[in-house]
Amino acid sequence: MSKRIAIIGAGPGGYVAAIRAAQMGAEVTLFEKSNVGGTCLNHGCIPSKVLKRTADLLEDIKRADEFGIENCHAPRCNMGSLAKRKEKVISAQAGGILSLLKKHRVKYITGHAYIPKANHLEVTDSDSNTATYQWDKLILATGSRPATIPSLPFDGQAILSSDDALDLQIIPESITIVGAGVIGCEFAFIWNTLGAKVTLVEAMDRVLPLPSVDEECSKLIAREMKKRKINLQVNRTVQSTVKEGEKLTLSFGPSPFGVNLREKDREVTSGQTDKLIVCIGRKPNSDELGLENIGVETDEGGWVKADAMLRTSAKDVYAIGDLLGPARVMLAHVASTEGEIAVENSLGAEKTMQYDQIPGAIFTMPEIGNIGLSEKEAREKFKNVRGDSVLFRTSGKAQVLGEIAGQAKIVSDADTGKILGVHIAGPHATDLLGEAGIAMHMGAGVEDIAKTIHAHPTLAEVLLETSFKALDLPLHG
Ligand SMILES: Cc1cc2nc3c(=O)[nH]c(=O)nc-3n(C[C@H](O)[C@H](O)[C@H](O)COP(=O)(O)OP(=O)(O)OC[C@H]3O[C@@H](n4cnc5c(N)ncnc54)[C@H](O)[C@@H]3O)c2cc1C
Repeated sequence: MSKRIAIIGAGPGGYVAAIRAAQMGAEVTLFEKSNVGGTCLNHGCIPSKVLKRTADLLEDIKRADEFGIENCHAPRCNMGSLAKRKEKVISAQAGGILSLLKKHRVKYITGHAYIPKANHLEVTDSDSNTATYQWDKLILATGSRPATIPSLPFDGQAILSSDDALDLQIIPESITIVGAGVIGCEFAFIWNTLGAKVTLVEAMDRVLPLPSVDEECSKLIAREMKKRKINLQVNRTVQSTVKEGEKLTLSFGPSPFGVNLREKDREVTSGQTDKLIVCIGRKPNSDELGLENIGVETDEGGWVKADAMLRTSAKDVYAIGDLLGPARVMLAHVASTEGEIAVENSLGAEKTMQYDQIPGAIFTMPEIGNIGLSEKEAREKFKNVRGDSVLFRTSGKAQVLGEIAGQAKIVSDADTGKILGVHIAGPHATDLLGEAGIAMHMGAGVEDIAKTIHAHPTLAEVLLETSFKALDLPLHG
């Protein structure tokens, strides 16, 4: 008899796991309390990139004169139309996922799932009807939601979560964003380009203060923000808010997490904003699941603990995706890969999830694509490391596109030439990452990229030139 696999959560972790499990012959039921596609499709990757696409297009139109196109005066974004387009894209993607589930005979049940005891699930729908299901193996894929801070509670009107920000129907005159992580930085560029006056406040001393983001990429993004008149305040926090009519009055002060604070970082200042978007992290959807009833352990933050095979502390129960928290990597493609591995393991395999070659795509302007170790991390781990960079301005294709800001960097082991990391900040950086990913997956060295003939004129030639440089054989520099 085939195994009954129950999966809770139909985000990129859960729905991919469901399809794989069905392909492997399991009897699969997928439970979702909200909309198929999870955070990624409804409040994350896809809606934010729909907004980014419009921001890119608007910027191109504003520069049309430069490209010899006339009569493109005063273009501006109609937020209502953009919101409609966003819904259309989400709906098309959701329809696609639902038909894939149907094609693979995955039973899709809408309702809130709760685990009352081992091998059972209770599911309550929006009419409060409850049904019970049984499972042999359970995969938890319930994801995460925006975290708030007590001093800045979401009210859906002036103090917004990232979910609220993606549902705005107008472009506010001014926006203050708290947190210059990936989401905060993407929002800063998008809203600035769409026409809002943006202030970005970061408690640490740099934008994108993540170990995986090379410090040079952070610097470049901070420079681009300055050029675009995004008011970036690092080493600072929003200390209080007061609602005055339609506006919020904010007080800014030094951050307790700041590093090398300058005199101006220590000042207490105030300012007004229409909307405050709080992007300080996520919290797990692990409450209201009944995990305690089957002994699934969580850490002090509520994130589910799982081993490298994605097994939780409860027998036959696996966990994947954002629910595993920031100690793993909270990205859609990581959730999907973990979903595939958890399914295979639940059906008898013994695979482990590897986190050392996860590509990261950051949709700032310009974009960032990174994989592997940053130069700093590599120097801590290896004796003899080199970091070689080439500027996009040297690329014919970047000049043709009129997008010359940025650079590609290859971090390599100077003794063996092995590629340890690739960090690209520049036009289409996130797409360029594909080549770096396959090279690292195959354990390639800089010589392998150097020997690969790259088409001309393409942006990928920047990686070719960087590999030449890593061999001390630069052609164009
Ligand atoms: C603004 C923003 C932009 C982002 N951009 C990117 C990006 O460009 N690239 C990228 O890789 N990642 C991006 N992410 C992160 C990405 O969205 C997440 O990493 C990904 O969605 C995690 O997938 P998941 O399947 O683990 O969880 P989720 O996508 O959160 O899905 C979990 C699902 O479980 C359901 N659920 C929860 N509890 C229950 C229950 N008890 N019963 C039934 N259903 C339940 C939820 O309703 C939800 O649909 C972004 C996130 C945000 C917020």
